[in-house]
Amino acid sequence: MNKDEFRQWGYRFVDWVADYFENVGQYPVRPAIQPGDIKKRLPEEAPIQGEPMEAVFADFQEIIVPGMTHWQHPSWFAYFSANNSPPSVLAELLTAGMGAQCMIWETSPAAAELEEVVLEWLRKLLGLPEGLSGVIQDTASTASLVAMLTAREQVTGFEANRRGLKEPLLVYVSEEAHSSVEKGAKIAGFGRENVRMIPTDAAFAMIPEELERALVSDKDRGLQPACVVATLGTTSSSAIDPLKPIGRICRRHKVWLHVDAAYAGNAAILPEKRWIFDGAEFVDSLVFNPHKWMLTNFDCSAYYVKDEGALIRTFEIHPEYLKTGVDAVVKNYRDWGIQLGRRFRALKLWFVLRSYGVEGIQAMIREHIRLAQLFKEWVEAHGSFEVMAPVPLSLVCFRLNDGRPEEELDRINRELLTRLNQTGRLLLTQTILKGKYVIRMAIDSHTTDEQHVRNAWDLIRETGAALLSKAQV
Ligand SMILES: *Cc1c(COP(=O)(O)O)cnc(C)c1O
Repeated sequence: MNKDEFRQWGYRFVDWVADYFENVGQYPVRPAIQPGDIKKRLPEEAPIQGEPMEAVFADFQEIIVPGMTHWQHPSWFAYFSANNSPPSVLAELLTAGMGAQCMIWETSPAAAELEEVVLEWLRKLLGLPEGLSGVIQDTASTASLVAMLTAREQVTGFEANRRGLKEPLLVYVSEEAHSSVEKGAKIAGFGRENVRMIPTDAAFAMIPEELERALVSDKDRGLQPACVVATLGTTSSSAIDPLKPIGRICRRHKVWLHVDAAYAGNAAILPEKRWIFDGAEFVDSLVFNPHKWMLTNFDCSAYYVKDEGALIRTFEIHPEYLKTGVDAVVKNYRDWGIQLGRRFRALKLWFVLRSYGVEGIQAMIREHIRLAQLFKEWVEAHGSFEVMAPVPLSLVCFRLNDGRPEEELDRINRELLTRLNQTGRLLLTQTILKGKYVIRMAIDSHTTDEQHVRNAWDLIRETGAALLSKAQV
């Protein structure tokens, strides 16, 4: 592609993205296709000769776009969102254009220093304690793995990464913790069997007394606790583990406390939601995802650690070809995580924070929370639906319930979800809470407004009513 073509196509693609932003609500949220449908339409071999962009772009529009699930759709209520935004996308274009590797300060000085600055901005915005050092990780999953590896080294006096694990180390999480924590424990050498699932209360939050009991009982048996992971905003129901009592317990038992606040952490940008992080003074490490609820396109996880020395000691390696004259006075983020090569993710975060300002982001999150409370009230007021968990933020867990036996309720709610999603007019996902099948309505897309939520509720009500009347016959 020559430089004139690049310029022309660049303009066209920006137009395409701008149109997409405007029209994304007109696509079915999830495509009605079967496994293999896309592969069938793609050649088995790469082209030997280069093709014109016209042909590539035509296939993108004809094959790829209709086969996509549209995460930026205003009726996206599934999982949690992965919000992007115009300034974030533009910054990503610049990042790709510069194509820099941000592994050490010398390979991209501005990237290293901007990363430090925007993470300090975010730390203050969320009311997190001074002395936490930030670094951007690709995902919360990676960040939690990094936390567990650091905890492992600290508890073994940095012997585990020299000689391997001598004895089992234990990780404590609530039974509602994200699967990435179990995955992290599995691959960090702890072993899945050494993950203790701590029971939760009626609001699906970890019970601190149960954590204490598990720690004491394991220590009495001569076992070595290494890490507690508290979840602020569980994926199933957005339950918020009580950080302060958990933190006190961790301090007393000298156990690393990692906090997974992937979704809910973003809400602490609101003064009225700062309480989420009450107890943050006890935290050893913490992650939240601007790529979920802060308008920064995937991927971008903000990871904070109290003892940056312990983190660096866990990951650093000093081959000759990476030594520079300024290593003593700069941050070389290659030592702050798993990979060497790093993308320039701070740029999009900077563009987003400057474009929206704190107030812009607060307004969006506040509106999502308002809409979720509204939706919750509608569900509560309806005779055949019920709310299944507290709604501290913007996720509502609910189900259809007309009083029939539990097994039938599970079946009928599965059917309801299938029918709703088949319409392509919205997308919802499910979870299990204390054994019960529940539908999740996560309202956290930047394109969603009240009308989308009203339309969703109308569709849910009507589909539910149709199901119940049919089930009675
Ligand atoms: C979404 C989520 C994760 C996983 O986030 P990734 O960045 O995709 O790894 C982890 N924990 C919680 C609580 C989440 O909601």
